[in-house]
Amino acid sequence: MSSIDAILAMFQELDRTQRETWDLLSQPDTSMFARARKRATLDAFFPNGQAGDYVPVPTPPPRGDKEEWIAKYKNRVIQPRIIYAAQAGSRGSEDVVVVYTNKLDSKSQDMWERLTVAEHDGQLKVVGQENRCSDCHGAGCGDCGKSGWLRVGDKMKVFKATETRRLVEPEDRQSKIAYEALA
Ligand SMILES: [Zn+2]
Repeated sequence: MSSIDAILAMFQELDRTQRETWDLLSQPDTSMFARARKRATLDAFFPNGQAGDYVPVPTPPPRGDKEEWIAKYKNRVIQPRIIYAAQAGSRGSEDVVVVYTNKLDSKSQDMWERLTVAEHDGQLKVVGQENRCSDCHGAGCGDCGKSGWLRVGDKMKVFKATETRRLVEPEDRQSKIAYEALA
């Protein structure tokens, strides 16, 4: 089993856990314990147990109109993620797999995000999230350091791919350019 296969299997679990968490957290009458338990299953995919640093997690406002917040999230259907492609390679001295996907909470089915997975304390974790550069649409330009992708928050090293696996061709034109540029 290649490292890409292992990460694709992990992403099936992550996707299911994310959608279950989303459904449960946006229900008005879920107990605090049920919320915390479900939230922990999602946090386990991320270093330091902080899913919210990498992916959207519905978080009710500490005060204010909770009913309004619930109404906003309750009827939002979260579709399964589309995995367009995956690449194995390295960031600095670390072996990683980068997964190209759409944004979970967006209606758009475009290839807008990529998530980096690495081994962290002996377990596979999502250690980085990047958005496709809106200037070059992933082809590479001065703004994104020619990578086509913009890192959010942390300072990940530049990704160098050694293996590329294309899985689903995106439909929109800009995503297609990024998809074809993967090498
Ligand atoms: Zn760019």
